[in-house]
Amino acid sequence: SKINISVTEIITHLIKLGIMASINQEIDFDTAEVIASELDIKVELENVEEEVHSILEEYEDEDDEKDLMKRPPVITVMGHVDHGKTSLLDAIRHTSVTSREAGGITQHIGAYTVQINNESITFIDTPGHEAFTAMRLRGAQITDIAILVVAADDGVMPQTVEAINHAKAAKVPIIVAINKIDKESANPDRVLQELTEHGLIAEAWGGDTICVPVSAHTGEGIDTLLEMILLSAEMLELKANPKRLAKGSVVEAQLDKGRGAVATLLINTGTLRIGDIVVSGTTYGKVRAMVNDKGKRLKSAGPSAPVEIIGLSEVPEAGDEFYVVKDDKTARQVSEMRKHYLKDQQVKKSAPLSLDDLYNQIQEGAVKDINIVIKADGQGSVEALKQSLFKLTNDEVRVNVIHDGVGAISESDVLLASASNGIIIGFNVRPGANVSKIAEKEAVDIRLYRVIYDAIEDVEAAMKGMLDPEF
Ligand code: GDP
Repeated sequence: SKINISVTEIITHLIKLGIMASINQEIDFDTAEVIASELDIKVELENVEEEVHSILEEYEDEDDEKDLMKRPPVITVMGHVDHGKTSLLDAIRHTSVTSREAGGITQHIGAYTVQINNESITFIDTPGHEAFTAMRLRGAQITDIAILVVAADDGVMPQTVEAINHAKAAKVPIIVAINKIDKESANPDRVLQELTEHGLIAEAWGGDTICVPVSAHTGEGIDTLLEMILLSAEMLELKANPKRLAKGSVVEAQLDKGRGAVATLLINTGTLRIGDIVVSGTTYGKVRAMVNDKGKRLKSAGPSAPVEIIGLSEVPEAGDEFYVVKDDKTARQVSEMRKHYLKDQQVKKSAPLSLDDLYNQIQEGAVKDINIVIKADGQGSVEALKQSLFKLTNDEVRVNVIHDGVGAISESDVLLASASNGIIIGFNVRPGANVSKIAEKEAVDIRLYRVIYDAIEDVEAAMKGMLDPEF
C-alpha cells in the first residue's frame, strides 16, 4: 500500500522469481530489493545504529598521543552473597579522607571516588557480577579491575566462581580481597588454596594474582587493598583525553519528581561541562546541573569521574553509552532516529550465537570461538562434558567453556552467555523460574540434554558444518 502497487502484481513478480508467496507471507530484504528494483523503487534496510554511528563518527576521532593523560581506574566489587561486598564498599568509602572533608555529605549516586596517595580510584556502588554483566550487555565495559571478595571463614563458593568467570569473560583483571580476617574462624590459606583450582594463583604462591587480607569491619588491610589497586592500574596504563567532548556510560538513572530525569554518568574520556548537550539512547538534553558523590556542585568533570546530572529529557538506561555532541540538532537527530526505529522493533546489539547458525556465522568469519556455559546435575558430568568439548577445538574454531557449575541454569548464566555471544548446555538440569523468559528476550540458545554424547555430537555437527571446505 505504501508504494501503491497491487498485491497481485507483487505476487506475480515473486512467482517469476520462483517464490510462491501468499498475501500475508513475509519476504526477506534481498527478495524485496530485487522486486523493488524491477518496479523502480529504492528500498533501504533500516539499520539505525549504523546511521547513528555515521553521525557520531566525528566524536570517535583518535586521540593525539600528547593529549592522553593518566585516568583513575574504575572498580567493580564482586563475590558470593554475604561475603561482604557491600560492607567493603562502605568501609572503603569511609576510610577515604575526602568523604570526611568539610561540608561533604556522601550521596549515593551509584559510584564514588576515593583518594589515596593523591590518586583517585572510582568504585561502582552496585556490587555483583550480574550488574557487571548486565551493563556489559548494553555495551558498557566500564570496569578496569574487578575486586573479588571472598570471606576467609567461608572460602570459594558458587557465586565466587561465577564472579571469576564473568570477570574473565570480560577480560578484566581480578584482585582478591580475602575478607572477614577479624573472625576467629578465618582461614585465608584455605581461600588461597581453593582459588588455585580456578586459575587464580596468589603472588605469595608464585602466581600473579594479588590477594589482600582485609576486614571490612575493623578496616584492616583496606589501605593496602587500595594501594594494590593503584599498582595494578599503573600497569594497565589507563589513559584518556580530557581535552575532547565527553563520552562514557550511564551508571544509574531515575525520575525525580522535582528535578526530572536524574542520571549518574561515568566519564570514560573527555571533559563534561555544564551546558553540554548529552545524548544517550533515545534521550538527550543539556546538562543543567552536575554534582559529584560528595554532593559538591561541579562546573566540569574529567575522565573516570562519576557525576550526577540533570537536564535530560527522559530517563536513560543504565549501561547505555552517552556522548556529548556539538549541538542540539545532532542530539535530536540521533534521539529521533532511535525512537523511530524502536517503535518498530527492539534494538538488538548483535545477533547472539545459536548452534543452528554457527555454520553461517563462521562462513562470514564472524565466529572463531564457541563460548559455552555448562550446567549439570553433578560435578562428574560437568567435568566429562568439559573435557569432551575442549577436545573439539581444531585449527579453525576454538571451543571455550567460559563457565561451568552444578545446578539449575540461572539468570547469571544467561547474562554471561549473552554478553559473551555464547550458548548454554544443560545436562539433566533446566532453566530456573523466569530464566527461560530472559533467555528468550536475550535470544540465548539453551540446549538441554540427558545424554552427554548427544551434547557433544550436536556441537561437533555444528562445527563440522563450519569447517572450511578442504580440497
Ligand atoms: P554482601 O552480600 O556480599 O554484600 O555482604 P554484606 O556486606 O551484606 O555482609 C554480609 C554479612 O557479613 C553482614 O552481616 C556483615 O556485617 C558481615 N561482614 C562483612 N564484612 C565483615 C568483616 O570484615 N568481618 C566480619 N566479622 N563480618 C563482616
